[in-house]
Amino acid sequence: HAPAHFRALLEMSRFHGEKVFLVYEDEQITFEEHFRRAATLANRLVDDYGIRKGDRVAVAMRNYPEWVISFSAVLAAGAVAVPLNAWWTEAELAYGVRDSGAKVLIADGERAVRLASTGVPLIVTRGEPPAGARAFGEVLGEVAADVKLPDVELFPDDPATIFYTSGTTGHPKGALGSHRNLGQSPMTVAYGLMHSLAMAGKDLAAAAGTRRVMLLTVPLFHVTGCFSGMTTTMFTGGGLVLMYKWDPEQALRLIEREKVSAMIGVPTSAWQLMSHPDFGKYDLSSLTNLGYGGAPAPPKLLERITENLPDRAPSNGYGMTETTALAIGNGGADYRAKPDSIGRPVPVVDVRVVDPLDNELPPGEVGELCLRGPNVILGYWNKPEATAQTFVDGWVHTGDLAKIDDEGFVYIVDRAKDMVIRGGENVYCAEVEAALFEHPAVDDAAVIGVPHDELGEEVGAVIRLAPGRSVTAEELQAFLAARIAKFKIPAHIWFRDGELPRNPGGKILKTHLRREILGSA
Ligand code: ATP
Ligand code: MG
Repeated sequence: HAPAHFRALLEMSRFHGEKVFLVYEDEQITFEEHFRRAATLANRLVDDYGIRKGDRVAVAMRNYPEWVISFSAVLAAGAVAVPLNAWWTEAELAYGVRDSGAKVLIADGERAVRLASTGVPLIVTRGEPPAGARAFGEVLGEVAADVKLPDVELFPDDPATIFYTSGTTGHPKGALGSHRNLGQSPMTVAYGLMHSLAMAGKDLAAAAGTRRVMLLTVPLFHVTGCFSGMTTTMFTGGGLVLMYKWDPEQALRLIEREKVSAMIGVPTSAWQLMSHPDFGKYDLSSLTNLGYGGAPAPPKLLERITENLPDRAPSNGYGMTETTALAIGNGGADYRAKPDSIGRPVPVVDVRVVDPLDNELPPGEVGELCLRGPNVILGYWNKPEATAQTFVDGWVHTGDLAKIDDEGFVYIVDRAKDMVIRGGENVYCAEVEAALFEHPAVDDAAVIGVPHDELGEEVGAVIRLAPGRSVTAEELQAFLAARIAKFKIPAHIWFRDGELPRNPGGKILKTHLRREILGSA
């Protein structure tokens, strides 16, 4: 019997045998090698560390192959994998360890230094283990060809993962995902990818048998990296090219060198790839799929891709930690027809838009987006109140304002917490930002609410100019006047030299920005 849980996926990945699964710089790991190392580490966790079903084991690393091996090992042992954010400080990492109650930590050298003070047993790769910690290779020991997974019985609704949300709107919450959630993720994402290729008029029959190589530009410790990238590749038998961190020049080099067919990331990464001065110098002919999500993708992005990378299949995917990555997606002809929509739900997901009393709204009306399906997680770890508020009768309340058109296409209007209310009128930041992106001098933009005595809030915008371009606040306001209603035009415009503050998921940290500019969050 093979229920839809991670061990089934891991066992199945052996069918891909000697094909290369993971690529990191000059290192390559095949599917068979990955299986053996993961199975070996799973046995060590059970035998040497006493890990049992339901125990939590944290993984704190950059995108190294050992992240994937560790994640696989923890789940194969029946334990719950807790990917910690590699950008976190010592105090934040300590919070993650304490909150999850992790019994063992597997970290890279940089993270190990920050984790040593937690006193939790530590396994360290890519760096000197601090006193008391053990080296990854030493724990693994000899990797036998006939290694078996440890014996443990798991059911679809058993917990599998605790991913921390991005913390865009507040403190990160531990999202408790099940084996059922994880088990459906490759199907959901593979469907999304193939569908957008088919929609873009690609000949799928001609592509049959060709190797799918995905460049992962986002961290594995968020759901996009883990599920849209990793588990999906484990399922389809393609290659996954890892990067230590996002870097457009390195991405260009890797696409050429590894003949990458799909790049997944955030909208900004696609934007930055095309803006790179050496963009034209690389052979990007292998790239057929450009997938992005996690943050609003302005329609201008699609226009730029059509210009700079014609004849590809860009796709915009909407998902959240609470939906195990992809839930709604737009691609191909649909995307060209409705570039401001995130598309329609993947086949296993139901959507609806509700008013504050949870009544379903008719098409075209703006309310809170709710989702239901086998990808919706069990709830928040250790947070019964937040769980009860967010997960109601099987529906996850996204906190995103959206509308659905007559054909079932979903439009994200704004995050409820980002929306500016100016004199009683709702101003959706995402709409104003999309209009700003239309201006050639604008390289990046964030719209925030600015306190105002009379109106409650006034609209403000922070702009990063494109290299070598200039524009005044008055010129931008005049430009917007032709595109959006007068009350939505930012009264305050700040120009900024450096990059806007973003988290590893590519989302602009508006609370930071408000604090920086207004001195209050
Ligand atoms: P936190 O919940 O801790 O504040 P977060 O919501 O940013 O952080 P994630 O689960 O990583 O954490 O992100 C999910 C959110 O990202 C969605 O609720 C939505 O606001 C945004 N998002 C994801 N994909 C898209 C997309 N394609 N277009 C617009 N927004 C998106
Ligand atoms: Mg959220």
